[in-house]
Amino acid sequence: TASSNSSITWFRKGLRVHDNPALEHAATGSDFVYPIFVIDPHYMDPDPDAFSPGSSRAGVNRIKFLLESLLDLDCGLRKIGSRLLVFKGEPGDVLIHCLKQLNIKKLCFEYDTDPYYQAIDARVEKYSSQEGIEVFSPVSHTLFDPRVIIHKNGGKPPLTYQSFLKLAGQPSWVSSLVSTGPSSIPPPGDVGDLQISNVPTMEELGYGNVAQHEFSPFKGGESEALKRLKLSLDDKAWVAKFEKPKGDPSSFLKPATTVLSPYLKFGCLSSRYFYQCIQEIYKNVKQHTSPPVSLHGQLLWRDFFYTAAFGTPNIDRMRGNRICKQIPWNEDSELFAAWRDGRTGYPWIDAIMIQLHKWGWMHHLARHCVACFLTRGDLFIHWEKGRDVFERLLIDSDWAINNGNWLWLSCSSFFYEYHRIYSPISFGKKHDPNGDFIRHFLPVLKDMPKQYIYEPWTAPKSIQVKAKCIIGKDYPGPVVAHDTASKECKRKLAEAYALNRLSNGSVSEDDLTKLR
Ligand code: FAD
Repeated sequence: TASSNSSITWFRKGLRVHDNPALEHAATGSDFVYPIFVIDPHYMDPDPDAFSPGSSRAGVNRIKFLLESLLDLDCGLRKIGSRLLVFKGEPGDVLIHCLKQLNIKKLCFEYDTDPYYQAIDARVEKYSSQEGIEVFSPVSHTLFDPRVIIHKNGGKPPLTYQSFLKLAGQPSWVSSLVSTGPSSIPPPGDVGDLQISNVPTMEELGYGNVAQHEFSPFKGGESEALKRLKLSLDDKAWVAKFEKPKGDPSSFLKPATTVLSPYLKFGCLSSRYFYQCIQEIYKNVKQHTSPPVSLHGQLLWRDFFYTAAFGTPNIDRMRGNRICKQIPWNEDSELFAAWRDGRTGYPWIDAIMIQLHKWGWMHHLARHCVACFLTRGDLFIHWEKGRDVFERLLIDSDWAINNGNWLWLSCSSFFYEYHRIYSPISFGKKHDPNGDFIRHFLPVLKDMPKQYIYEPWTAPKSIQVKAKCIIGKDYPGPVVAHDTASKECKRKLAEAYALNRLSNGSVSEDDLTKLR
């Protein structure tokens, strides 16, 4: 049995050694530290009924990214005298079992605001307090503690970026450099008869049959995150001038933004470390951009959505969500499937959706275009449906940020200028007149002449034949006519907004049905 001076550091997100206060605290004064990760079968086991390879909750790209991150974490821990202990099962059950079996006196894990972990953590904390186990659960996933900001605001989350910035102020840790990680930690002690495994492979999880081309070019792990961070930050002028929403959403060979989101999502990269590295650059340049458009501004958006999501009950749905406009979205499973599978007949939209399937990552403005198209721009389908697809397929899939952005893009919350609609034709063309992005992700259109590539249904038959792409056969015609569909969407939103105003937000199901 283990010594009485044993602690567990429980990894969920925060898959890193640098800036990891839970890991450091577990190591302090302990003879043995057990670094634990629990593979949750609901998250990892293949779902044969899902619309694309993966589990019911995650596409294969994110599962692979997670496994890579775990392998790298194991490597990182081995360098400081430890290793990762992998278990499988319902995380709360497994943790409680470990606490019992290993005679643990101290449990350390990063505080997590997602409802999924809030529920598990409450259970584990209750057990720990009954057993007299010390629990240390620091905030290290975000720049700020959402609870503190909500408290400062009288119990409600700020709902505009500017009010968020005002409340947040400077991060408390900003003047002292965050930790690059301990140089050694105590090893895990005896594990008794606990069932421990190594990090499983994709094959071991049952994904051996997934073709290689389905996989994202972005590889998981802390080492990869730090490499990628360095690559982005080496170009100091680029960092200083970074300005969203400028930047080309169609660049895929060299994306216009950092692609650090999946690393931040899993905590392979600390957002605080990222923030400090940017700060160091700002100190040494004459001029730099500012929030909301700067790179610092992007990290603050992340914290903004974390705070809004944490402080808003039912943020992940329309009904019962006090900040969400009630809108009579249409049900149309065929149109929805066309969007989801990249078959709308609008190459710009379809190429982005194929990038989502293949890479699990798209540029922010590309996400804008497809989210707008599905909801208030063209198809008038519920944002929750689109949110679910993103939630499953994105490698950076993040509960707070994804819900927040879907509310935004569907003009359900935060942003209300519903007459501003992205054109599925001219928006992409402005950035990529030759359609290289489309040609790459939709090879069926690779020989379509440039003047037709955004609207291939307008190409004369002879051109379609020559391009070996007959519209209606090799590639679909447009599922809706954008001009009329977008007008109709605006009309419906105007009606729905009026109803929301009249009823002061308490719109009944009947009221919505009348508008349908
Ligand atoms: P950069 O521009 O390099 O920004 C650096 C970091 O800032 C990002 O990694 C991210 O952590 C943060 N950030 C940037 N933009 C935003 C934003 N609008 N909101 C919150 N944080 C931001 N991002 C996710 O991480 N997970 C999601 O599930 C997610 N879902 C989205 C859904 C929709 C409909 C839309 C429109 C956007 C969504 N985003 C999501 C936000 C944004 O598109 C991505 O964070 C960004 O494109 C990631 O690329 P990057 O790391 O190169 O970003």
